[in-house]
Amino acid sequence: MMKEAMKTILDIQELDMKMLRLMRVKKQRLQEIGQIDALRKELHQQLVEKEAGMESLGKQIHAYEQKIQDIATKMKHLESQQSSIKKVEEFNAITQESTALEREKIAVEQKVSDLVDKRVIEEEIFGKIKESLESSEASSLNLEKEIQSSIKLINEEGTSLKKEREDLSKKADPAILHVYERLLRNKKDRVIVPIQNRTCSGCHIALTPQHENVVRKGENLVFCEHCSRIHYWQEVVAPVGTETTTKRRRRRA
Ligand SMILES: [Zn+2]
Repeated sequence: MMKEAMKTILDIQELDMKMLRLMRVKKQRLQEIGQIDALRKELHQQLVEKEAGMESLGKQIHAYEQKIQDIATKMKHLESQQSSIKKVEEFNAITQESTALEREKIAVEQKVSDLVDKRVIEEEIFGKIKESLESSEASSLNLEKEIQSSIKLINEEGTSLKKEREDLSKKADPAILHVYERLLRNKKDRVIVPIQNRTCSGCHIALTPQHENVVRKGENLVFCEHCSRIHYWQEVVAPVGTETTTKRRRRRA
């Protein structure tokens, strides 16, 4: 009776282990999507910043060009004044003013030239960011599709595991199932484990012969006094396909 009950719980445990693995993979895949998304946002942000920088450069260049025009107008005005002036002092004063304006014009023209150079460099960087954004968008779109479809498969598998588990748990002894589920919530790992070489295969601590005998009888639930896992005698109830049975088979062969 006890052995039958343990068998059902062990089957449930295998389903739960599959479910835990599945959820871990799903979490990983969701994180991958998150990373792709973060990278894309980062590149977009860089692009927006570069665009704003270029716009402000353009405005500065425009303002300086305006200034150059103003200076040129002033200079023309001075020239026309100069042609009608008779006094030497006044003529010289205007020449001085013209020279100063000429110097200012050259300085502003230098600024414009520097800014234009800077804009060329910024435009190149902008182009490169845009290119890498486009190529990463294309490749990340494929990757994302792949991840989404694998998540879809995971969800489908999860749903069928859940259904299988529901059916099994109806057959299970409610008291044992309850204890098992409480342990599982704590350990997130196998909590019903066989004794191997008189050692708990959960925590690998040696057990007493008496403890082993009680487990071998299989009349009650026996907990590992070190890790609180439930022990079972594996030659009787080992489920097919678990790690422990494969090991045993290998040893026999
Ligand atoms: Zn243990």
